[in-house]
This record gives sequence, C-alpha cells and structure tokens, in this order.
Amino acid sequence: MKAAILSVENGDPLAALRGFLRRLLETRMVGMILVPKALPSGAGFVQTLIRDPAMLDDVHPVAPTMPVQSARILSGLTVGDPGERIGAVLKPCELRAAVELTKFLQVKLDHLVTIGVDCPGTYEVEDYARVAGEKGAGDSLWEGMVRGVKTGRLDGQEEEGIALRLACRICENPVPVNADITFGFFGHDPSREIEVIVGERVVGEFEERGIIGLSSEESSERGQVISQLKEERIRKRDEVFGRFRQQTTDLQALMSTFSTCVRCHNCMVACPICYCKECVFRTPTFEHQSNQFVRWADRKGGIQMPTDTLIFHLTRLAHMATSCIGCGLCDSACPSGLPVMTLFRTVAQGVQSLFDYLPGRDPEETPPVATFREDELQVETGAKD
Ligand code: SF4
Ligand code: SF4
Ligand code: SF4
Repeated sequence: MKAAILSVENGDPLAALRGFLRRLLETRMVGMILVPKALPSGAGFVQTLIRDPAMLDDVHPVAPTMPVQSARILSGLTVGDPGERIGAVLKPCELRAAVELTKFLQVKLDHLVTIGVDCPGTYEVEDYARVAGEKGAGDSLWEGMVRGVKTGRLDGQEEEGIALRLACRICENPVPVNADITFGFFGHDPSREIEVIVGERVVGEFEERGIIGLSSEESSERGQVISQLKEERIRKRDEVFGRFRQQTTDLQALMSTFSTCVRCHNCMVACPICYCKECVFRTPTFEHQSNQFVRWADRKGGIQMPTDTLIFHLTRLAHMATSCIGCGLCDSACPSGLPVMTLFRTVAQGVQSLFDYLPGRDPEETPPVATFREDELQVETGAKD
C-alpha cells in the first residue's frame, strides 16, 4: 500500500477528484468509470457509467445521497465479462456489499478497480432534493461536509433543516476497506488536499502509468480522526440498538413494531445482499387461496392483513443477517417508515460478532452461511453436549 497527497487548487476538491478520475481514463487504467453524477436540476445524483472523459465534468465522487446501492449495479456489470476494466467509485458500505457479493458469485472483482471514498454520510434522496433543489442549499451542505471531515464532526446540518440518514449517523465503518484506490478526506482539509491511498493489487500498474507520485506513508491525522469518529458512531449505534431491544423484547412486540408493514418487498429490492433471482416470497407458496385466509380467521378469530409479514422479515434475517453491511437502504425504501435497518443491524451485530465476521472486510473470508462447524450450535446455545 502506498499513498500520495493530491493538491487541491482554488479550494475546489471536486475539480481535483474529477481531474484524477479523468487521468484514470486517459491512461487506460480503466476503460469506464461508474460514479455519481449530478442531476441537471441540482436536486440529486445518479450513478452513471462514463467512458467519455468530458462527461466527468459534473460527477460527484462523494455524492451526499445514495439512491441505489452500487453493489447491485456492479452485479449486472461484472457477472459477465464487460470486456474492459471498470473503475467503480464506491462508498464504504457499497464496497463492502460488492466484496460480500463476490463470495456468492454475484460480482467479479477481476473486472473492477475499486475506488473507495471516506464517507461523510448521506441524506435521504427526498430530503436532499427538498433542501438542495427547492432551497438551493446544495453547495452549503457540501461545504459543511468538507469542513466536517477535517475534524470528523459531521452531523451538524440542522440549520438547513436536514439530517444524515440514521444508518449514516450510526455507521461505524465510514472508511473503505481494501479498496484499490482510496480518496482519504478524514483528518485533511479537502479545500487544500486529499489523500490518495493505492492498494497492493494495482500499485505497480499505477506507478507504471505515472498517475501520481506515491510515497509509502499514510497520514496519522486521518487515523486519529477516524478513531474518534468510529468511537462516537459506536456510542450512538449502541443507544439505537439498546432502545430497539427494549422495544422488541418478544415476538408480540416485534409484530406490533412492524404491524404497518404492507409486505411491498421494497426493503428486499433495495438491499444489496438480498440477491436471489428466485425468491420464495414470490412463489406460489405465498399466494394463498381465498379459503386459506378464511380458515386462518376462523381458527384465530381474526387475522391481520396482509399476512406473512413477520415470516418475511424473519426469513430474510435468517438468510442474510451475517452479511448485512448496514447501508440502511431498506429504511430509505420503506413506505411505512419502519425500522428495518435497525432490526437487521441489531440482529446482525449479534450473529456477526458470534462468528467474528465483518461482511465485506476481506474477499477471502468465507461467509458463515457457507460453512458449518460441528460445535456451532454449542456456541450459540451454550449447550455442553
Ligand atoms: S452507511 Fe456508512 S458508508 Fe454507507 S453511506 Fe452511510 S456513512 Fe457512508
Ligand atoms: S438489510 Fe438493510 S442495512 Fe442491511 S444490507 Fe440490506 S439494505 Fe443494507
Ligand atoms: S419496505 Fe417496509 S412495508 Fe415494505 S415489506 Fe419492507 S418493511 Fe414492509
């Protein structure tokens, strides 16, 4: 791993980042780049696959919204051979989701150069559209984020009437893990400089193409700010999880919390980890006959409709709690405002620590759902035999 400082001119970090991405295309380090691009209205950003360097003019590698999880896009882009390498600009949770999906053969890293960004957090798409599109405050939100990354104080946008998504306020992994290239903002003043860290997989090629002069040092300020930020986020995360545990002490309380679930499956569609092409919840197993509902109502005296909401969430939890990367897009997608991310992350914290597993940390690490240990049940239950 080697690092460099990218100088920022005229106090414009986006211009420096766009210039760097342009160089990756011009030197053929990558054939195309997947990166968030500003909407002409200024009200948001969409991931865009760019070949023409001229189209990089209004990209925003640190876009403050995440309308879709890029790991989902990378699945479609890389599962076949795209014919050339794609540079993918990814937030840390997107990178971890993509790495996790490689273990289930849904993403192929060989076709990618991953470009991770230190992540100040993201707003809900509709919140950002309201504040940036209607009030024209997009630039001041961005300037607030630029100021915040130097010290790691990132939540103070209240004066604009907007807050980071809950998933981001409690995200203890806001830094890319094992990216080929990392744009490091934490601990730096991005109006003057950005740290670029280049991983082992591409460092030789990077130097051959002369993209930027590298040294072997990473800055210690970045490490300190990251540690403080993680500590603060973990404190908030534990408060949120603690409240949720108190609120859902038994199955009845969980059902009550999720009683307004309309079983629209939006949370499943938005989730990068829920990748099955054939989902059991979209099979005849869950297309009940009319008289089945009547029998249930007869037996119980009455049933809440739609049915099967609890089994939907519990099945999804059983399938993917070990791989949940905490992006919170399930929350963002829920029309009923239900705490889906909090449910998944609260359960995931327990099972992931049980298996000492951080999803997306290392492509070589085997996911717990793909392994079996004879003593597993003893660990879980505390049983002796
Ligand atoms: S969950 Fe973490 S990595 Fe993902 S957008 Fe939010 S702060 Fe960034
Ligand atoms: S369950 Fe929610 S928080 Fe977890 S990976 Fe899926 S969308 Fe992200
Ligand atoms: S998005 Fe919300 S309402 Fe729809 S299935 Fe998921 S939890 Fe239920």
